[in-house]
Amino acid sequence: VGRHPTPQAGPQKVAGVNRIIAVASGKGGVGKSTVSANLAVALAAEGKRVGLLDADVYGPSQPRMLGISGRPASPDGKTILPLRNHGVTLMSIGLMVKEDEAVVWRGPMLMGALQQMLGQVQWGQLDVLIVDLPPGTGDVQMTLSQKAEVTGAIVVSTPQDIALLDARKALNMFDKMNVPVLGMIENMSSYTCPNCGHEAHIFGHGGAKADAERLDLPFLGEIPLDLDIRLASDGGAPITVSKPDGPQAGAFRTIARKL
Ligand code: ADP
Repeated sequence: VGRHPTPQAGPQKVAGVNRIIAVASGKGGVGKSTVSANLAVALAAEGKRVGLLDADVYGPSQPRMLGISGRPASPDGKTILPLRNHGVTLMSIGLMVKEDEAVVWRGPMLMGALQQMLGQVQWGQLDVLIVDLPPGTGDVQMTLSQKAEVTGAIVVSTPQDIALLDARKALNMFDKMNVPVLGMIENMSSYTCPNCGHEAHIFGHGGAKADAERLDLPFLGEIPLDLDIRLASDGGAPITVSKPDGPQAGAFRTIARKL
């Protein structure tokens, strides 16, 4: 009987994947998934080979945002074929369960699913794999950075104090896990009234930029709070696809070019 301890496998490369960029947030509802989807599409539009791994296991929203439904096939019973739309290759737990079905799994099952989505999905050759993380600082974040070589993380926050406080926790977590932080994005940064053009700062403004400066991190850019962004995501064609020439898509493209 082997008495040798099993060697602990450190972070591994995902076969065929050049860079892994994790998109994180301290709390939910700040637009992490919206940012992930639009950055993925914007990178694909620049000719990059892009995958999106929806690791927001308790609230997978990428199938809806990218307009993808149906079950991924597994012809050999071992590997899984991801689905594709808008130039982006997607894998999500949301594709394995019905949309209104709750994922009621304990931690180990979730971690197994995450590892499967990393290792058994035929991603093909990718320049970048965007990983949409769950909000907060939990198991999925830890498993991802322990199992896969994450090139860097992006932290999305609204300008609000409370969201920024949570964003700082996420930054600390990446620090502890030795994952470089590529920068911060301020979402829902400003709102321009479509009738009168007045600009309002519903959740405040500039907080994430100030935080990034204070923490000596790159500030990647700001995205406005905008009805079309929300409608586009709900409709399954992110604003970077549905209105590629508008200012909102431009804001996402500017950020994508920095990655
Ligand atoms: P998270 O992934 O952080 O939970 P989501 O990306 O799911 O957040 O966004 C939460 C809700 O807010 C969604 O309905 C989404 O369409 C909307 N939303 C996100 N960002 C914006 C924005 N910049 N303008 C308008 N609505 C947005």
